[in-house]
Amino acid sequence: MIPGSCIAKATSQINNNNHQKSTPSKITRKRLPKPLQLVLALQAVGLAALTAFTGAKAEQAKRETAYRASILHFLSDPATTKDKSYEYIKDGLLIVRDGQIVSAGPYKSSIAKLAKTSNVVNYSGYLITPGFVDAHVHYPQVEIIASYGEQLIEWLNTYVFPAERKYSNSQYAREKAEFFLSQLIKNGTTTALVFATVDPTSVNAFFEAALAKNMRMIAGKVLMDRNAPAYLLDTPESGYQESLNLIKKWHGVGRLSYAITPRFAPTSSPAQLQAAGRLKAEFPSAYVHTHLSENKNEIAWVKSLFPERKGYLDVYHHYGLTGPRSIFAHAVHLDPKDEVNTIIKTKSVLAFCPTSNLFLGSGLFPFRTLRDAGARIALGTDVGAGTSLSILATLNEGYKVAQLQQQKLSPLEGFYLATLGGAQSLSLADRIGNFLPGKEADFIVLDPKATAISKLRLDKSQTLEEMLFALMILGDDRNIKATYVAGVKQHEQP
Ligand SMILES: [Zn+2]
Repeated sequence: MIPGSCIAKATSQINNNNHQKSTPSKITRKRLPKPLQLVLALQAVGLAALTAFTGAKAEQAKRETAYRASILHFLSDPATTKDKSYEYIKDGLLIVRDGQIVSAGPYKSSIAKLAKTSNVVNYSGYLITPGFVDAHVHYPQVEIIASYGEQLIEWLNTYVFPAERKYSNSQYAREKAEFFLSQLIKNGTTTALVFATVDPTSVNAFFEAALAKNMRMIAGKVLMDRNAPAYLLDTPESGYQESLNLIKKWHGVGRLSYAITPRFAPTSSPAQLQAAGRLKAEFPSAYVHTHLSENKNEIAWVKSLFPERKGYLDVYHHYGLTGPRSIFAHAVHLDPKDEVNTIIKTKSVLAFCPTSNLFLGSGLFPFRTLRDAGARIALGTDVGAGTSLSILATLNEGYKVAQLQQQKLSPLEGFYLATLGGAQSLSLADRIGNFLPGKEADFIVLDPKATAISKLRLDKSQTLEEMLFALMILGDDRNIKATYVAGVKQHEQP
């Protein structure tokens, strides 16, 4: 029990007996990186944003374009296959056509096979990598980033809930969704797993904005039927039905996927978690996205709310919410035996959110221990508890969190987690994460010497690892020279 907290007010369990079981509807996952197909998807959801991707941008995606720069991408996890885990081409050429990767190879041999009509963009002196993946972030919380003085439960009550209320206004939600996506792009993030709010309006606004930019995004409506202000509560029935409607409307449209999103165990009744589990069973290709074992008071609270369960993770496991497409943010204080075993056995994913864990004083994620145990781990910014939307800044703090536990997070491992590792954790490695032919062309152009200090540091360095380490410790949005989404330039610094 957390004194003085409206989130801690006990409410009665909601009876689920009248819940209508819906017939699972067949959701066809469409591969739609191509401009024409995207336009059809936009038309299907009736968007005013239709014009955003027609014309010049659609043309840009269709044409074959080659980008000359240093190129780095991963083929596997450097922690397990050190020598052949990545490909680094000092003078490389990345060829893109119709929003997809054609090839990544040495400039000299690649330029010879390029069609005469192809456009060549010269980024010599810069580094091209796949776009970054953020596996845990809340778009309605961007406006309360850097809010002072609280830990998890008090921070939710004081800052988060009043902010999330505003996202029931569709115009407000759309404006903030567009702001959020433009900030992700500016920071080099091209795919994210995103919390909206309890109101479906916030999800529609987010997906409309992401579809207009043709981004590969995963999001969902928050499920929350107790221990929060009445203006943010749904019920097991309404939460199920609204999630179902959103899955039918958005899951597999364009490059979008849906995540079933209970905020965390304390704000969902057993009936609601049961309904979430039913939804997951009916739509196995949908994701589950929630929080787990972030803060010690939170863990004690879960134990008091679910005394019949073995622990926090067992609550989710019991309701069928663990699995390869389940992403649990934080997991700072897992039981090292039982809970870690369940994470590994179920192939569930943990989102490591170092800036958030430090900001809220939650604790140190046992990064190396969990990686070595075989847990699937991705990086998350967790804004607004996180303090930056930059995955580079996240790696900076992640390195320090490891150091405080006498552990290491190497630069190669860091860039793997930011790209292919993130894609694998989100079961998207067949689409994004590296530059194998046919992958979707989400990539960024990094400027390792964007600031005077990084220039001073790197003018004397020799190796790839030194460059990557300077980027992950000193880097932020200033180092993102340009961001391309499905072959279309969405951002470039002058
Ligand atoms: Zn979070």
